[in-house]
Amino acid sequence: MSWHSVIGQERIKKILQRSFATGKISHAYLFHGPEGTGKDAAAIAFAKLLNCEQPIDGNSCDTCSGCRRISSLQHPNVQFIVPMPVGKNEKEGDDPFKNLDQEAISEYRQAFGRKSENPYYRISLSKANTIKINSIRELRKSINLARAERGKKVIIISGADKMNDNAANSLLKTLEEPTPNTVLILTTSNHDKLLPTIISRCQMVRFELLREEEIKKGLMEKNNTNEEQQAILISKMANGSFQRALELTGTDLVSQREEMIDLLRSILARSPSIWMKEIEDFLGPKDRYNVVRSLMLLNLWVRDALMLQNENGDAIINLDQRKPLDKFITHFHQAELTSVIYAIERAIALVEKNIYLSLVLLNLAFDIRQFILRR
Ligand SMILES: [Zn+2]
Repeated sequence: MSWHSVIGQERIKKILQRSFATGKISHAYLFHGPEGTGKDAAAIAFAKLLNCEQPIDGNSCDTCSGCRRISSLQHPNVQFIVPMPVGKNEKEGDDPFKNLDQEAISEYRQAFGRKSENPYYRISLSKANTIKINSIRELRKSINLARAERGKKVIIISGADKMNDNAANSLLKTLEEPTPNTVLILTTSNHDKLLPTIISRCQMVRFELLREEEIKKGLMEKNNTNEEQQAILISKMANGSFQRALELTGTDLVSQREEMIDLLRSILARSPSIWMKEIEDFLGPKDRYNVVRSLMLLNLWVRDALMLQNENGDAIINLDQRKPLDKFITHFHQAELTSVIYAIERAIALVEKNIYLSLVLLNLAFDIRQFILRR
């Protein structure tokens, strides 16, 4: 069923299903809330429901030709508008595609292909910083055209805060004169950047951060991973965003965690000349993003050790690490693990601030020794 492609957000699904059932559908919605929480995914699912030939209990069938064409983002009733590059010598009133070169067009097609496979994919085209006035003009034209298809016309403006002033003013005119059978859905994670006059004409629908449990379930159900431990680690690191969770599925977090635990053991047991070299080797091929991820994994592991130290073993996240964690806290029973966690968090902030990586990790290593070995 179509809502199946939207992770969590049960409250919003109910609101939209109810308005479908009662026929009280707004002519404009503003889906707002943090990045990666499913605003575009919900907009596509809602467009499907509004155009499905045989909806059942507030769900689209996912099999009729309408559903299938919307899934592949190729239904004439559904338009999906994103920031696009400005073509060479493009003038106001031109078709938004007319002056684009071949490369830009194929990038656009590819991005839409990926979006149709994964509604959580974020389309970000090169040199595309704003939603062009010509895209909005085009949508106004298409609203006014006689509809060949049954169902409702749905126009999704993704990243609506990226409209430039001209585009926003042009959209405002459309919002002021609603057309029957047309639904506009604006999605944004920065709704405070929209004109208040636009906001006041839309029904606001607020998306919340996803719960860890929902992210984990979503990952397992969609076969993004079938390793439960990997899904748990991702859900802890995704900060409520399924988009971020999907980005993390590409990395083997379990091995990355092992690498960090080995490094931790070495820092605690061996002489500085050895682990200093190991830190350099560890950093070797990694970018900042990667180092942050490793530090987050280490932090989750130390957090679990703290849980065990406080006799709260039910709360551990690294379920497969129960034995090594037990051994660790038996061996280092006097460790000040809260201080270690703060030190790792500080290190993460410094890595993100572009401070020299080796320096940050060496300082962290000395902090860890001090707080765990207590000397
Ligand atoms: Zn259908």
